[in-house]
Amino acid sequence: MAVFSEIYDEGDYKVFVIRGAIEARIPMNFYTQLKRKYSDEEIVSMQEPKVLRHHHTKRELVYVTRESGLPLIGHTAFGLIDRGTNLIQVRPVSGCNLNCIFCSVDEGVSKSRRTDFIVDTDYLVDEFKKVAEIKGDDVEAHIDGQGEPFIYPYMVELLKKLREVPQVKVISVQTNGMLLDAEKIKEMEGLLDRINLSISALDDRKARMLAGTNLYDVGHVKDVARAIASSEIDLLLAPVWVPGFNDEEIPRIIEFGLEIGAGKRWPPLGIQNYVRYQFGKKVRGRPMKFAEFFRRLEEYEKQYGLKLRLSPADFNIHKAPSLPKAFRKGERLRLKLVAPGRVFGEMLAVERGRVIGVLTDKPVGAAVPAEITRTTDNVYVATTK
Ligand code: SF4
Repeated sequence: MAVFSEIYDEGDYKVFVIRGAIEARIPMNFYTQLKRKYSDEEIVSMQEPKVLRHHHTKRELVYVTRESGLPLIGHTAFGLIDRGTNLIQVRPVSGCNLNCIFCSVDEGVSKSRRTDFIVDTDYLVDEFKKVAEIKGDDVEAHIDGQGEPFIYPYMVELLKKLREVPQVKVISVQTNGMLLDAEKIKEMEGLLDRINLSISALDDRKARMLAGTNLYDVGHVKDVARAIASSEIDLLLAPVWVPGFNDEEIPRIIEFGLEIGAGKRWPPLGIQNYVRYQFGKKVRGRPMKFAEFFRRLEEYEKQYGLKLRLSPADFNIHKAPSLPKAFRKGERLRLKLVAPGRVFGEMLAVERGRVIGVLTDKPVGAAVPAEITRTTDNVYVATTK
């Protein structure tokens, strides 16, 4: 039986099709030379392997399935994070449609990120259940990530499956709101309990500057905020306060949140202080010290009669049993590199049911001697120096 359903010439290229999909497009002169010695199947097999690309970031996209052999515990870019409380972070996808100038994970136009990840829904939920089982009966599944979670094409399916996990009492998600609309919000009623909406300015020009893209439409995000507030889903507005950039926007956002009815069951506002992270985007000027940040929040609390200095207890987050750690800091072992890492200079390895970010420039397939340098929250990093 012929391997290719169609082979045709297209300008200077020879095109090979399998079941309606183009398998290879090979320059004609190259094809003619190779054809003297090889069959069509052999020539096509010599081409670079196809690489899946992220729709928004255009970076290489790794599809994480059970069959891929990548565990879902161990890395912050995808899978699950258990920080020893009743909240489990669920990270189905990485990559963002915005480019915020303060982004803590250097998303959008990024100098540091080289790979994105997307996780199969069934695999994610099956592994989530194993963690939820050790947590008790009041688990919060918090969907967030190094990017915008609503880029994930199977979000409603994920919510439905998480809702069926008996220990799950709350499902929340972090979003910039750009990919939501009234119809999607309606569809998620009964599945999702709270949306933490990041909105850091109401002024259009300032909002686009902070989002790092002219595609950002704060008018749309305000409409999304109103639609959430008038739905069964609770709304928490989560601006990042970047001193020198949006100081005067903070009281406007508080007033907007109160006006539209954010915070039916949880606090209406979760204002965050901009922090300059090692691998995050850096804005000019000096970040605000936390003492100063809390003092200014206290002033707004008095002005608006509202609690703004929040703690985990405000969200019923408390300590809960954790997964056991698979490694100890300083442990030395030989690791086989199985996939590209999230950032340049990093590869992924798998050992003892955990994924490990290995700082190395060696390629996939290499085995390297390594030392575990981070184990906090079951997130593992190893160096090869
Ligand atoms: S929306 Fe969030 S993840 Fe995306 S660029 Fe802005 S801060 Fe980063």
